Amino acid sequence: MATDMRAAVLRGPEPITIEQVNLDQPDAGEVLVRVVACGVCHSDLHTINRAKGGPLPVPVILGHEVGGIVEEVGPGVVSVKPGDHVVVAFRPNCGLCYYCIRGMHQLCERPDNTARSATGERPRLRMGEQPVQQGIGVAGYAEYTVMPERGVVKVREDAPLETICLVGCGVTTGVGAAINTAKVQAGSDVAVIGLGGVGLNVVQGAKLAGARKIIAVDISDSKLETAATFGATDFVNASQEDPVARVQEIAGGYLDYAFEAIGLGATVRQAFDMVRAGGMAVVVGVVAQEVTIPGIAFLREKQLVGSFFGSAQLQYDIPRLVDLYMDGKLLIDELVSKRRPLGEINEAFADMEAGAVARSVMDPSK
Ligand SMILES: [Zn+2]
Ligand SMILES: [Zn+2]
Repeated sequence: MATDMRAAVLRGPEPITIEQVNLDQPDAGEVLVRVVACGVCHSDLHTINRAKGGPLPVPVILGHEVGGIVEEVGPGVVSVKPGDHVVVAFRPNCGLCYYCIRGMHQLCERPDNTARSATGERPRLRMGEQPVQQGIGVAGYAEYTVMPERGVVKVREDAPLETICLVGCGVTTGVGAAINTAKVQAGSDVAVIGLGGVGLNVVQGAKLAGARKIIAVDISDSKLETAATFGATDFVNASQEDPVARVQEIAGGYLDYAFEAIGLGATVRQAFDMVRAGGMAVVVGVVAQEVTIPGIAFLREKQLVGSFFGSAQLQYDIPRLVDLYMDGKLLIDELVSKRRPLGEINEAFADMEAGAVARSVMDPSK
């Protein structure tokens, strides 16, 4: 038995199209989720741009910031049942590898999405006879998805799925970078370079941690204004002044943490340069370039640290971030700038490329 459904399918360089797709019933240890909402994340855009350049396996269904409702569970599933509300964890960890047993689930060596997304070893999706890949292991731009049990996190039912879906990637990545990766100390001074969806979440993560100054750095005045809503206290337009000198001045010469949330070598360098001796520069953006750092700075015990997926333990972090949202301590509604039916997926990506929105959220039922 398979589920027939509508999905947004990427076949290559051409625009995404809405197709009828077959989805397998959940196997042992798997969960069928009805997708209520799916955020449009930059990682999906990276994937599309890779598909334009070449070897990405297509056809593929993207989308990994999913809030949904459990429709059916396969044999052996114990943590969720039909009707439960869930946020999808797009990189389900194995629980047993070198990193998992040391609590670093985000670095898992055997995430359970390889079998479903890579080379069609176990395709769960088909158009006719043709296998369809689950992009980033989820395939959320569809009416339904099948995930391994570890790839869904049960959340409270009074939380709106069409908003908390963003906890499945962007919110956790940003807030987690401040709280889990950097462990920002109360009373410390923080700078955040790049105020897109992830950067705004670093800002509110730093606020939750009790930072004193939270200095927002961007080249867009409107993004700097949005950052104020999320808790930024000071603002630097990097197109008008030297961000390193200005941030250091605001922090009185002793900036404790800088976060890079763009993904450029030049801004990683700025983050590293602006922190004090012993301070920490955290790279949250996806940097595809070489980064050049003055080695002598290591004598000043400066740290340059990577952060992936907010260094999060998803089964723990997702429900507690949802609680913080429901208590009014975390802003998520303000991140959603547009809601669209599934058929407008290409427009949603165009908005993102133009930098016009913090986040679009797709509704696959429409
Ligand atoms: Zn994402
Ligand atoms: Zn593992």
